[in-house]
Amino acid sequence: MNSPATESPFEALGLSAALQRAAAEQGYDQPTPIQAAAIPPALRGADVIGCAHTGSGKTAAFGLALLQRLERQATGAPVRATRRRTQALVLVPTRELAVQVGDTLRRLGRHLTQPLKVAVIFGGVALNPQMLALRGGAEVVVATPGRLLDLAGRNAITLDGVDVLVLDEADRLLDEGFADELARLTALLPVRRQSLFFSATFPPAVQDLAQALLREPVRVDAPDAPRAAAPETASPSAIAGVPAIDQRAVEVDAAQRTPLLRHLIEKAAWPRVLVFVATRYASEHVAEKLRRAGLAAAAFHGDLSQGARQRVLAELNSGKLRIMLATDMAARGLHIPGLPVVVNYDLPRSAVDYTHRIGRTARAGAAGLAVSFVSAATEAHFRLIEKRQGQRVPRERIAGFQPRELAVPASPPEGGIKGRRKSRKDKLREAAAAGGPSTG
Ligand code: AMP
Repeated sequence: MNSPATESPFEALGLSAALQRAAAEQGYDQPTPIQAAAIPPALRGADVIGCAHTGSGKTAAFGLALLQRLERQATGAPVRATRRRTQALVLVPTRELAVQVGDTLRRLGRHLTQPLKVAVIFGGVALNPQMLALRGGAEVVVATPGRLLDLAGRNAITLDGVDVLVLDEADRLLDEGFADELARLTALLPVRRQSLFFSATFPPAVQDLAQALLREPVRVDAPDAPRAAAPETASPSAIAGVPAIDQRAVEVDAAQRTPLLRHLIEKAAWPRVLVFVATRYASEHVAEKLRRAGLAAAAFHGDLSQGARQRVLAELNSGKLRIMLATDMAARGLHIPGLPVVVNYDLPRSAVDYTHRIGRTARAGAAGLAVSFVSAATEAHFRLIEKRQGQRVPRERIAGFQPRELAVPASPPEGGIKGRRKSRKDKLREAAAAGGPSTG
């Protein structure tokens, strides 16, 4: 074709032909805001700290940058002759995210002249296959911290040749108590390296980590982010690139939530729904009730084996499964392409968790819907979430499911729901609500 030589948007960011081609094959026409902001400084070799929500395209933002760096460094020497040196390390908080990031990197790297090996490492599965996979080395390693330390301790991997370190979902990594493991891992890395951090929020722990690990970082936010709060006051409003999510709040008694859920799914003909519940028990219990009502529903939580979790996800992705009842384990990092609806059957603990949960829908620019069930007992908690989000969601009632319970006074119930962590009373209350005979 004789089309005029126009620079593609990814070429304009400085990406190589092989990476432009891979991006085009993924259907990326235009860089997302976080990609446009993060890729150029990363390609210059700067440390980058990015405020990026899952769904903003951050995986490709750091992925394209690190692949290009590795492509530039490739010597052309046949790699089989020597052990592959681990040059890029991506740390993530969960196995699911590790698998997803690994897949994305493989797809984006597929046209590089010197193919790169991407190893994915996570705990909860047998060690041996991962040790075997690391034989001969891998240029790119995507890992959860604990298992990686384990493998490093067994000399299955050496990290002293790492040029680029990526921390994906840094807030979550710290939230999950990985701080100690992160410190031990970074001690194994060369001091001279490039570091790229991505986090949806910037709580003090992330700021401390960034201070300790980054050198004069360039801070990038997706330009269309709601005006960011100062780091000290980071709140979900500091989240970058949150796409359009229609938020609804339906008032309903706890006992009526399962019938209401069924009603909404059937009436609105939602093809696929991710429903968040507070406990593993509730996820099994509600899934069972829905199955008995003839709906394709399954539980998703940390007690399931890795294989079972992958199966449930694959079935939801393929449309075989219509409803996934998940604990907060699924709130972050999971990518469910085209997921139209998220339901908060139980409210999340914090406003940050709320943002992560509803961010499972409306990814990559698509519109999404998030419905929260609010009862008399949880109204005060939801108000707190709204306040921290800086957004009010009008309450609705649905004919046939109007609440009968009396609303509690405006102040939060005693002992409850003031801070980020649940009190024991809250947990008991939730367990009672989830496990009571009234769950639907
Ligand atoms: P992430 O924030 O990395 O979880 O990415 C969310 C989704 O956005 C993934 O399905 C990506 O394939 C998709 N995505 C990433 N970059 C682009 C882009 N430039 N254009 C369209 N979709 C994209």
